[in-house]
Amino acid sequence: MLRFAPSPTGDMHIGNLRVAIFNYIVAKQLNEGLIIRIEDTDKARNIEGKDKEILEILALFSIDYKTVFYQSENIKYHQKMALQLMTQKKAFACFCSDDKLEELKEESIKKGIPFRYDNFCETLSDETVLNTNAPFTVRLKKPDHNIKFKDLLKGEFDYAPFDIDSFIILRQDKSPTYNYACSVDDMLMDISMVIRGEDHISNTPKQIHIRESLGYTKEIKYVHLPIILNAQTGKKMSKRDDASSVKWLIEQGFLPSAIANYLVLMGNKTPKEIFTLEEAISWFDIETISRSGAKFDIDKLRFINRKHIETLDEMRLSKILGFADESIGKLAKLYLEEASTIKEIKEKLDNIFSIKTTLEGFENESNKIKEVLQKAPYFEEYEDLKNYIVEQTQLKGKNLFKPLRYILTGVENGPNITDIYPFIKNYIGEITR
Ligand code: GLU
Repeated sequence: MLRFAPSPTGDMHIGNLRVAIFNYIVAKQLNEGLIIRIEDTDKARNIEGKDKEILEILALFSIDYKTVFYQSENIKYHQKMALQLMTQKKAFACFCSDDKLEELKEESIKKGIPFRYDNFCETLSDETVLNTNAPFTVRLKKPDHNIKFKDLLKGEFDYAPFDIDSFIILRQDKSPTYNYACSVDDMLMDISMVIRGEDHISNTPKQIHIRESLGYTKEIKYVHLPIILNAQTGKKMSKRDDASSVKWLIEQGFLPSAIANYLVLMGNKTPKEIFTLEEAISWFDIETISRSGAKFDIDKLRFINRKHIETLDEMRLSKILGFADESIGKLAKLYLEEASTIKEIKEKLDNIFSIKTTLEGFENESNKIKEVLQKAPYFEEYEDLKNYIVEQTQLKGKNLFKPLRYILTGVENGPNITDIYPFIKNYIGEITR
């Protein structure tokens, strides 16, 4: 079983979507299920509605899964297991206040050493604990041996007990911390492989230690994916980069199939450049993807988006654009030299279908042509329409072509009118209204 475990704390980041896509592909390759686990136990950071948004995005990308699971539903198990760890003296109640811990942190900073818990409460007797009337957290005792694991991408890791520390597993309100809930749920859900961002690497030994303390022996494989860098600045794609938000990319008119294609392609050697996720399932190898940060280049995504629009069925493209006519899909494709996104193509179509004024410098000519077009019969061929306009207006040269292009397309440049006409000939009345 694999899992994608987003926190409903903000707009979905492309790094997270990449994690979801890789989990989806690998689950299909291994013929295992995929669980979506909404990690909603940190109430202070949850944002209402973000869980639904995540699921909508997964649907948009055709990432299918076995079930959706809310982590908060498992809190009873997290608490029960914490009690078990306390009974076995593997965990202890910690009464240290936030202020005291803050003091200890400041001391470590002054000394230039990493902060570690001073283990004060670990030695309290049961009697003292029972008689202490103060809020407490639950801390898991640090391991007595090194925790080692192999990341399928990055190789071997080895953490000393000091690196792991005696860390909090239940907060004062008895809600589970991230590492604890995550590790217990991976165990309860029988997860066989965890694919997630490399920012979680230092959490992994803690999560392994939690399961070992609970007596769970099944090994979980780990793959930590490199972070996504902004190709322009070379820095991590932060929330401040618009393009880091999947929602923003969709609103800009990037097709989910193109975004998915790019997120798999980025920094990797793939047998081809343009592909679907279904195709990627047959050749993708998670163990050979690039280990260094993947550079996100929006111009490359624009190129891939054009290629995906090019291969879209014309009726489908037309529907995405708000029409239900194959001709509009064909018309849209004519604009792929100058437009790369659905939003940009829509702007081109809006120009065509908007009510036009007159072209500057050609006011009389524009009016004349518009009037003639409004009354013109239907012409199958552009040549015949043009001859008809010449006959009716006596205009020629640029006095004819410039305003005619403007009346038909709303702009002065663009694809050849002869190429456009076959796809707009049924709409002349609407275009010239
Ligand atoms: N909720 C964590 C996140 O969104 C999940 C990390 C994990 O996959 O374990 O980063």
